[in-house]
Amino acid sequence: LDVVRTVEPRVADAIAAELADQRASLKLIASENYASPAVLLAMGNWFSDKYAEGTIGRRFYAGCRNVDTVEAIAAEHARELFGAPHAYVQPHSGIDANLVAFWAILADRVEAPALRKAQVRQVNDLTEEDWFALRRELGNQRMLGMSLDAGGHLTHGFRPNISGKMFDQRSYGTDPATGLIDYAALRQTAKEFKPLVLVGGYSAYPRKVNFRILREIADEVGATFMVDMAHFAGLVAGKVFTGDFDPVPQAHIVTTTTHKSLRGPRGGLVLCQPELADQVDRGCPMVLGGPLPHVMAAKAVALAEARQPAFADYAQRIVDNAQALAEGLLRRGVRLVTGGTDNHLVLIDTTGFGLTGRQAEQALLDAGIVTNRNSIPQDPNGAWYTSGIRIGTPALTTRGLGTAQMDETADLINTVLGQTKPGVGPDGAPSKAKYVLDPAVADRIAKQADEL
Ligand code: PLP
Repeated sequence: LDVVRTVEPRVADAIAAELADQRASLKLIASENYASPAVLLAMGNWFSDKYAEGTIGRRFYAGCRNVDTVEAIAAEHARELFGAPHAYVQPHSGIDANLVAFWAILADRVEAPALRKAQVRQVNDLTEEDWFALRRELGNQRMLGMSLDAGGHLTHGFRPNISGKMFDQRSYGTDPATGLIDYAALRQTAKEFKPLVLVGGYSAYPRKVNFRILREIADEVGATFMVDMAHFAGLVAGKVFTGDFDPVPQAHIVTTTTHKSLRGPRGGLVLCQPELADQVDRGCPMVLGGPLPHVMAAKAVALAEARQPAFADYAQRIVDNAQALAEGLLRRGVRLVTGGTDNHLVLIDTTGFGLTGRQAEQALLDAGIVTNRNSIPQDPNGAWYTSGIRIGTPALTTRGLGTAQMDETADLINTVLGQTKPGVGPDGAPSKAKYVLDPAVADRIAKQADEL
């Protein structure tokens, strides 16, 4: 930091302050973690200066032999760790990994057959008329993904997102009575809608998903089955999710982030069956800008860490902790979507406290507990204010906290939310954002959170 400070002291100060914040507060954001020093150090180096468009052994730039080495090591670890035939480790983030997957599916399922039919090798060889027709067809495909308020991600076809514009989209949700995925309803929707792509995976669904059933449904309707395991990749890597709950053997293509439960650097990767490998490898430069070789080096280190036996133990403790946290909250009368969890996250229904998700999130932050607000199924407060708080245990588990501390954490959360009252706006009308929490209570809890 001293070197940074000589150039721009404000940045050095912000970095130091971030470390202090992350140490003092309880990090319960389900998508965050603490990467190891080896991962962080592998990311800060001279690879950052290198251009390497293309992929291993097929670059558009000279001098890429060291990049080839780290990319190949990262891909090998990813294949071995997840038991996947092919891995592509360049995506800069989870959204980028999804874009690579969408591109690869469209190229494989729509573009390649059109080129074969026209008897040309590449799109540049098409007549203008055929090219315009192909573009219309590419833009007319269908995606079926989980709805945002049931826990899906905005890249799974949410209209404001690019995915909702690239594809005609319909979504599946959860059973209003149980909060669980209704596989029969999903099958029915798939049969009616006939999507090109069926997307499994989620950001805020606190349960296991049976990917074998989803694959059966995809096969029945001729869809390519894609799973976005960004949130639970660590549980797949750690063999907590196996058999029907492991997406890798079930899906044609799997995407993930590397920085959530997988505990690597910020980034993404794609795993796929051999028939999609060539299209996936064209992700850069078709969808992605130049690769980030320093981040690929850090991915290689993180994936090597995840192949150690200790990682399986870590993954199991994530789930044990999430279940202890859920039980602690339930015992104190807190309402949880689906009534519990079998993964790394818990979704609190804040309407039980008379609060919006936003009020609850801010009050918890005042008390040193960092979470994020989240929609719940059929959310009465919409996607901005929401009626839920999503909490997750990957980060606290990395810090070594166990089930006893999860009960204490549940107590702190319940105390803060129980003591917080909704506020009013300037006109005296009820506000969805303002709240009242005695600062002395917030300070007391923040001290307890820091001690944990
Ligand atoms: N996919 C899922 C399921 C996610 O939960 C997220 C992030 O929260 C992403 C993709 C996007 O990841 P990134 O922020 O790295 O682009």
